[in-house]
Amino acid sequence: MAGRPGYLTLPIFSVLAAIGYVYYTAVFLAVPRWLGLSTAAGVANAVAFTALAAACLATYAVAVRRDPGRVPPGYAPDVEDAESTVHEIKRKSGDLRYCQKCCHYKPPRAHHCRFCKRCVLKMDHHCIWINNCVGHENYKIFLVFVLYAVVASFYAMILIIGSVMHSVPKDEQSGSDSSRTSIIICGVILSPLALALAVLLGWHIYFILQNKTTVEYHEGVRAMWLAEKGGDLYHHPYDLGVYDNLISVLGPNIFCWLCPVSNTVGNGLRYRTSYDIPISTPPM
Ligand SMILES: [Zn+2]
Ligand SMILES: [Zn+2]
Repeated sequence: MAGRPGYLTLPIFSVLAAIGYVYYTAVFLAVPRWLGLSTAAGVANAVAFTALAAACLATYAVAVRRDPGRVPPGYAPDVEDAESTVHEIKRKSGDLRYCQKCCHYKPPRAHHCRFCKRCVLKMDHHCIWINNCVGHENYKIFLVFVLYAVVASFYAMILIIGSVMHSVPKDEQSGSDSSRTSIIICGVILSPLALALAVLLGWHIYFILQNKTTVEYHEGVRAMWLAEKGGDLYHHPYDLGVYDNLISVLGPNIFCWLCPVSNTVGNGLRYRTSYDIPISTPPM
């Protein structure tokens, strides 16, 4: 069985260093300068930011470590089960999807990752920042990490801007110009990072609303173009409507959608399609 890529990579080290650097600047430079660590507001902000940073670290660790979902040994598509496979077969012009490199059939939505050197269930994309694929098993936790990272980045920006604009007078007397410069440098580094994370989060929300993976988005763009050329209309087979899409990606419990828990729906080997008979309970 192929192992997963290692954890000691430059991008992973960079992410951890960035979290540490922003945390240090926000809690130990910005908050003391703006609110002071002896005031209730200062302590509350320091505690809140610490909790957010801890949530970022915890979800990041899970996204890095969790297996994104592997094809079980001996997996064979159930061709008798029309509901689960027919649309996937149709999509691929009549052939059952088979991975030549792994020498097994590919379940619907699974793809071969050239970095992980194996097939990944419901592969979204290979992310170098976690040195892991984002797939069926770790998509939700990856998404929650990005969400927490966006919130933390904007929170840190507020603390940074606040501390640069209003500092407590006694700090000015002690001549803390170097801390002001450090805070500004952190703000300059953080701004493009926060923007990039927000754009990434926006993209994934857009994908979830359509029940698409990043791979399927790119495939869909091509399929749509081909369909339009042939005078047809392309329809993404896993698009079940906004609410069912959210449930199938984020889990059946709406209160857990933004929590750092992985309530993955199903085993990753078959997915409801819009051609299936509608059922009132969450799939599988
Ligand atoms: Zn493969
Ligand atoms: Zn991969």
